[in-house]
Formats: sequence, structure tokens, C-alpha cells
Amino acid sequence: MAISFSLAGKTALVTGANTGIGQAIAVGLAQAGADVALAGRSHPAETLDLIAQAGQRAVNITADLASTAPVARVVDEAVAALGRIDILVNNAGIIRRDDLLQFSEADWDAVIDTNLKTLFFLSQAAARGMVAQGGGKIINIASLLTFQGGIRVPSYAAAKSGVGGVTKAMANELAPHGVQVNAIAPGYIATNNTAALQADPTRNRQILERIPAGRWGDPSDIAGAAVFLASPASNYVTGHVLAVDGGWLAR
Ligand code: NDP
Repeated sequence: MAISFSLAGKTALVTGANTGIGQAIAVGLAQAGADVALAGRSHPAETLDLIAQAGQRAVNITADLASTAPVARVVDEAVAALGRIDILVNNAGIIRRDDLLQFSEADWDAVIDTNLKTLFFLSQAAARGMVAQGGGKIINIASLLTFQGGIRVPSYAAAKSGVGGVTKAMANELAPHGVQVNAIAPGYIATNNTAALQADPTRNRQILERIPAGRWGDPSDIAGAAVFLASPASNYVTGHVLAVDGGWLAR
């Protein structure tokens, strides 16, 4: 059978795509041929422009994904605008840093709710349509902290570890319906999220020394993996967490 990386005729819903990794993924999916709906709380003007420049339709859906409240509406609006959802990318995420002994319940709940609870219920809502249409792709953005504990980020480590678990759980139950569920674990990627680390000369040097590839990842590095996992070329890949980390976990 011919191998295809094309997303021509496909539709995607991407969360948190106004900047960083989410923006690169949304634009990458459009460059591969998909029409894209963006769901987030900030207006993604630049991403909408870049998708249009790629010659694809872009739709903006305003939603604060800190809770599950807007999940059904987001799916309904994406389907109303694009006809169906073939690809869902759960990218929106936050991090809270504090010492373990004083880590607050509010910081625990905010990170678990945004990074894990909404991810599951948005996937559930989108998967109902994917099952009905006989196929789909769900891609969850995990982290190196899906595999490691980190320091001063217990709720983020718990949420991202949970993303790995729920990816496998969803993959098991949805595989018979032709729906593949995978995750991408980005390494150190140069975005707003990591700006403080990049700006700290000591931490920046320590990070670069630890990465076998010797450089920060670019959001487009993650987009390449996302296009693969969204495309027919990955139809037999499911329940997998793909590290895109310049070799960090290999060390
Ligand atoms: P950014 O902070 O640049 O992007 C995060 C995105 O999530 C933004 O679009 C943000 O929107 C959105 N978001 C956050 N909270 C909400 C919310 N309540 N409702 C809707 N959207 C929300 O970070 P990155 O691009 O670096 O991160 C993207 C994903 O990649 C995250 O899941 C992160 O955990 C993960 N990741 C990043 C790594 C890195 O090195 N950069 C490493 C490993 C994982 P807004 O602008 O409105 O806040």
C-alpha cells in the first residue's frame, strides 16, 4: 500500500494554538493539507494568518480550557464549522512551580484540570464523533515529565504522567473503532514557557550540555512528529508516547 503523509481533505482541532508548540502544530497540519479549528482563551491572530497562507481554512473557537465546561461546545463548533473532526491535538497546558513542602492545592488543581482532566473530556467528546465516522487521530502533548519526576513541579509531573496513562487507556478502547491515540513528549523546546530557562546563562548551559543533540528543540520539531501521528502513515501506531527530545531520554 502507498504510504501517505498527506492530510488533504482532513480536519483538525488544536488547543492552545496562539503560540509555541500549539501554533507550530496547527500550521504544520495545515501545510500538510488539513483545515484547522483552534480552541483557546487568547486570540490566535498570527496562527489564523499562517494557516490561511498555507491555503487552508482556519476557524477560531474561544474557550478557557481550565475546566471541562466548554468541552462539548468546542466540539460542536468545530464540527459545525468544518463538518467533522478527524484529528484532535490536546496541546493546551500550564505549569506551576513551588517547593514540595508548600505546594498549594490551588496549583495542584489548576495543573491537573487544564493538562489532564480537560484533555480527557475533550478527547471523549471528539471521540464520539470519530467512532461514529469510523476513524480519527488523537494526539496528546505530554512531556519528559511523563517519564521523570522533575523538581518543584509535582502537579505537572503528575498530570503529564497521567497523560501517558490516559493515552494508553484511550488507545486500547478506541483501536477497534479505527481511532489511534498517541502522545508526543517534547524535550526542551524554545517557547514562552521556557523563556526564563533560556535567559538564565547557567541553566541554559546545563540544559544544552545534557541534550545529546546540543540544541534546544524548535516548535517545528514537535510539529513534524504531530503531522506523522496525524497522517495515514501512522495508522498502525497507537498507545505510544513519542519522545522528541534531541536524545535526552537516551542519555
Ligand atoms: P506556551 O505557554 O507557549 O503555550 C501554552 C498554550 O496553552 C498557550 O496557547 C496557552 O494559551 C494555552 N493554554 C494554557 N492554559 C489554557 C486555558 N486555560 N485555556 C486555553 N488555553 C490554555 O507553552 P508551550 O508551547 O511550550 O507548551 C505547549 C504544550 O507543550 C504544553 O502542554 C506544555 O506542557 C508542553 N510541553 C512544553 C515543553 C517545552 O519545552 N516548551 C516541554 C514539554 C511539554 P494562553 O496564551 O492563553 O495562555
